[in-house]
Parts: sequence; C-alpha cells; structure tokens
Amino acid sequence: MFGKTRKQAPKDEIAVNAKLLFRGGFIRREVAGVYNYLPLGLRIIEKICDIVRDEMNAIGGQELLLSSLQNKDSWKKTGRWKSFDALFKLTSILNSQYPLGPTHEEVIVPIAKQFISSYKDLPFSVYQIQTKFRDEKRAKSGILRGREFLMKDLYSFHANEKDFNIYYDKAKKAYKKVFKRMGLDAIETQAGGGAFSKISHEYQVIAENGEDEIIYCPGGDFSSNAEVSPVKEGKQCDLGHGPLERARTIEVGNIFPLGTKFSDAFGLTYKNKDGKDLPVVMGCYGIGITRLMGAIVEVHNDDKGIMWPSSVSPYAANLVTINKQQLTTNKADDVYNKLTKAGVEVLYDDREDVSAGQKFADCDLIGIPVRLVVSDRTKDKIEWKNRNENKAELLGIESVIKRLKRSEGA
Ligand code: ATP
Ligand code: MG
Repeated sequence: MFGKTRKQAPKDEIAVNAKLLFRGGFIRREVAGVYNYLPLGLRIIEKICDIVRDEMNAIGGQELLLSSLQNKDSWKKTGRWKSFDALFKLTSILNSQYPLGPTHEEVIVPIAKQFISSYKDLPFSVYQIQTKFRDEKRAKSGILRGREFLMKDLYSFHANEKDFNIYYDKAKKAYKKVFKRMGLDAIETQAGGGAFSKISHEYQVIAENGEDEIIYCPGGDFSSNAEVSPVKEGKQCDLGHGPLERARTIEVGNIFPLGTKFSDAFGLTYKNKDGKDLPVVMGCYGIGITRLMGAIVEVHNDDKGIMWPSSVSPYAANLVTINKQQLTTNKADDVYNKLTKAGVEVLYDDREDVSAGQKFADCDLIGIPVRLVVSDRTKDKIEWKNRNENKAELLGIESVIKRLKRSEGA
C-alpha cells in the first residue's frame, strides 16, 4: 500500500483532523489550506460521494461537471467579480483574467438559459461534485477549511416560489439523510442568507474545534447560527425542552433560496401558459465533501486514532496476520482471498518484521471498524474485534463474511 503511518504529526498542524489524517496516511499537505489525498483518503472521499450522489439522485438531481476556470464577464454581470472576497483571479500569459470557481451560479445560469424557454422546461435540478477554490484568510483547521476543497453543489430551477418551496423541503429531508448515513448528527440551523435572501439553512455538527456557533434547543426544535440568532442561550425553549444551549459547530452543508437574483442578472425567463415572460426562481444547495471527511474525524476519534463509521470506512475490515509460521501466512492469505471473493473490502496487513503491537496500533490509528487477526493462536478461527470495543471473539470464516455483509447493508 502506498502511504505509511507516522507516530507524530508536523508541529504546525494544529487541527485534530489534520493530525490524525496525516498520521494515518490519508492526506499530505501541499501548502497551507491545500491537501493531497492518498489512496486511503481517496477511498473515504469516494464513500462520502456515493452517499451524496445517492440522495441527490433520489430528489431528481442530474449530475454534470462544470468548469473551474470561469468567465470573468459573467462574474461582472452579477457584481461578484468585485464583491466575492475569496475569489481567486488568475491572469493568463495573454493577460486575460479568469475567476477560479469558488461556486457555480455564474456558470450554470447562462447554460440553463440556453435550454429554458417554456414552463414545460421546469422544474429541474442539476448538481456536481467538484473542486472549489477560495482564497480563505485563515486556513488552520486542516481539511475543514481549504483554499482548494471538494464540494457538492446542486442548483434547482422553478416556475414559482410555491414549486421552489416544495423542492426546498425535499432537499432538507435529503440533507438529513446524507449526514445521518455518515454517522453525523447535523442540526438544521437558521442562518443569514448572505447576498441572496433573508434566510438560509445550515447543517451544523457539534464539535469543540468547530469555527461556527449555534444557539439551539437540545430537544431539537430550534437552532440558529449565533451570528443571526434572535434569542440568547439560557432562554427557555417554547416547547418546554428547557434552556437553549450554545455550542461550537462545523457547517457541513448550506442550502439557500436564491429567488430571482441570478435569473435577473442573466435574463433567465420562461413563458407561462398565457405566453407571459417570467423570471425563473432558483435555489442552491451545497455540501462540503472534504470538510465532511474532516468533521467525521473530529467527531469520531479517541486517544488511539480515528473511528470511521462503517458507511464511510475505507475498508470494511482490517485483516492482520501475526506470522511466526508459514502456516499462519497461508491461512491469512486464504482468509483474505475468501473475503475478497465474497465482495468484502479488506485492508490486509501482511507486513513482515513489524510487531503485533505496532500492527494493532496502526489498526486503531487508521480506524477501520473491524479488526480481524489470524495468528498461530487463532487456529482455524479468526479473531474479530470492533474498533470501539475491547473484547475480541473467535469466529469461523463464514460467520465473519456474514457479519461483514450485514454491516455493509446497514
Ligand atoms: P464558511 O462559512 O465555513 O466559510 P461558506 O458558508 O462560505 O462556508 P458555502 O458557500 O455555504 O460556504 O459552501 C457550501 C459548503 O461548502 C459549506 O457548507 C461547507 O461545508 C463547504 N465549504 C465552504 N467553504 C469551505 C472551505 N474553505 N473548505 C472546505 N469546505 C468548505
Ligand atoms: Mg455557508
């Protein structure tokens, strides 16, 4: 396997996610706020993307891929060439300038304009999972805040507010499913709408190293970004759930009603049944893919390392052989082959000259939910240990396969 574990993280990595992901061999920093994803890290990204795609397809999203180098004229039209603080502006050798995409309204709306003419062309939604660039002032939170990062962005197009609202509610439900499937309890939170609208909804995960703060009801019926909260912590919740609390959080997603802001800028209209031209109503819906990976690490770890939820784990099991004898090696190879044949993703630690203690420490650091050991002592059985428990048990290969298949389906 390309990549190795390390006992120490670089001194200037201060975020828990960056330290653990560095030590586990998932990521390497390029420059501040920019990370490379090694094979183990890419597997996590792919697992997260699979879940996001699944839920976006379920609400009718059609996947596409938009450009990173964008058209300066489009950004001038919306005024964001000047007003978007974190916009990277590239100058080419021919002296023309390009915005390096931090978001894609300026790209998708002119394309949509080529295909929308009648109410019959609405509604629809399109999304992509793509690298975004933002010139962030502070980039000290590891992969939680990158200058280059992966985002899923979906854009929806509607004939009127009513139709938009129906879709917005669907998107809210899909978002809750996405985060739940990744082992995150994301609190739907009222937030400011920025330049677009009065409000938006953020999905906030409680974590002590988060950069955001929310005021929320532990009973689950109220949450507001502390920046825009109409109430303070300590106030009694209207539904009798006790006092509102304040917590540090990580914003993993954000959905916005865009109204006709971008449609107006580009003249995106459609003809209604009476042949009248009306502006298209839009929404946009973001999820930070690489930020999610970091948020999962911030939430699911202990003093030994990461504890991936099985839905996003790079492998279903970490098979370790402690091979004092050739017989054990053969047996472990056999287990590996059987598991692989059964369609189970296994990380096989068959390193020679590495102690059992070091191998176990690496299992705990990398954080795959199940550790399987084949040694002289396990005879014809396999030792099964969950990452989050101390007890181990001996099982036959058939039971191991059955259990791993079951946790995959969960
Ligand atoms: P923040 O307030 O954290 O700077 P934002 O509100 O500017 O983020 P959005 O434009 O709402 O970000 O982007 C959608 C999602 O993309 C965010 O909810 C977040 O999960 C993710 N995201 C935004 N900026 C970054 C970044 N610099 N690095 C990693 N993920 C990011
Ligand atoms: Mg946001």
